[in-house]
Amino acid sequence: MLIAKYCSFAVMTIGVALLSTGTASAQEYDMILHGGHVLDAKNHVDAVEDVAVKDGLIAEVASQIDPKKAVKTVDVTGFYVTPGLIDLHEHVYASTGERDSYAGDNSVYPDGFSFRVGVTTVVDAGSSGWRNFEDFKEHVIDRSKTRVLAELNIVGSGMRGSKYEDNLDDMDGDATAKMALKYPGVVVGIKSAHFTGPEWKPYEQAVKSDSIANIPVMIDYGSRRIERPLYDLLSTKLRPGDIYTHCYSGLRGEQDPETGKASKAMLIGRQRGIYFDVGHGGGSFSWTVAIPLMQSGFPPDSISTDLHITSMNAGMKDMLNVADKFLAMGQTVPQVVTEMTWNPAHEIKQDQLGNLSVGAPADIAVLSVEKGKFGFVDMYNTKLMGTQKLICQLTVRNGKVVWDLNGISSDLWDAPPSSDPKLAKRWTSFTERPFGGAAHQKFPASVPVR
Ligand SMILES: [Zn+2]
Repeated sequence: MLIAKYCSFAVMTIGVALLSTGTASAQEYDMILHGGHVLDAKNHVDAVEDVAVKDGLIAEVASQIDPKKAVKTVDVTGFYVTPGLIDLHEHVYASTGERDSYAGDNSVYPDGFSFRVGVTTVVDAGSSGWRNFEDFKEHVIDRSKTRVLAELNIVGSGMRGSKYEDNLDDMDGDATAKMALKYPGVVVGIKSAHFTGPEWKPYEQAVKSDSIANIPVMIDYGSRRIERPLYDLLSTKLRPGDIYTHCYSGLRGEQDPETGKASKAMLIGRQRGIYFDVGHGGGSFSWTVAIPLMQSGFPPDSISTDLHITSMNAGMKDMLNVADKFLAMGQTVPQVVTEMTWNPAHEIKQDQLGNLSVGAPADIAVLSVEKGKFGFVDMYNTKLMGTQKLICQLTVRNGKVVWDLNGISSDLWDAPPSSDPKLAKRWTSFTERPFGGAAHQKFPASVPVR
């Protein structure tokens, strides 16, 4: 009797093993996101499509993909499916323990802020310079699940406070370019920020470095100085393809004081092909600037947060909250998604990102739009009311689920698995159920029910 029992168990086990092997080879895709509204500006897709991923890459985008072809199919009907969002301006060099420093305590670790709002790529905007970039890389970039890219500060010591950031002697375009060239595809730009002096040196050195390394400059224009007017920066000093961040701060001549519209400097900059980035931050987004500029037809090229410890809990909050502000000012969901995907990818010359082309990295955000009454707060603690709020339902990084707000990819706790748990590693980063392919575990009788 015992032997018979053992035999039938063994036969069953072999059966299951054969079944899963057979199924695995039949399932060419790891996961299909089914029935969502795909927004992919690069490929001009704005339609309901299925998206299949395999081995961390986008494998197919089509109106109907047979669910039998994938280990896992997630129903995302009613949601937008977009490329993983790219936040061009964050501060994530949090590992040094230095007080009052963006190469330290003022930064945050990226993973706690990214996936929950659909962000799969963040660009650290100059927290490190050529002297400390490798420390940043070792302690943050290489240890994060989020893809972290960097703009090197033109200041060798990075963003460690005014003592360092105003030091003209530590602005070396050659040394900065050399470090950038050592890490192509990770260092994607050069940053100048927070400079208070009258000199042009930081911008000239940044442009020099940028020309050697063939990457763009991002400018936070620091203190407003009459010796270096914004018009000269945007009409002469920067080249097409460079990036001007904090474009709705109004602190450095972005707004024409007479009309309230975009200043001549901003208009000539746009005409010349300079990109304008939001960089909301704690002190760089004012409704009195953003609303008239948007009304006069001056939208951003890219939406970004300038995430750091001061902005994270203030008006900025997170990437989607910043996007919501642009919805409240009349932009459409496809427009704000483009400003968080394809546009920023293109700005930093990383055209393999920010799109859902077959073969592109399978970094994907699934977003819903909540309707209601919402308040959106700026740098001066004033608000604009809006009616739409983007919510991130699901985030996929490298082909695997890394965030699932409402468990749309999960099975009900008391139901049998809807896909083979032994193959779960192909589509999710979360822990699969114990006991492999066995059905759900029964509620243990020994646990008292209260
Ligand atoms: Zn910043």
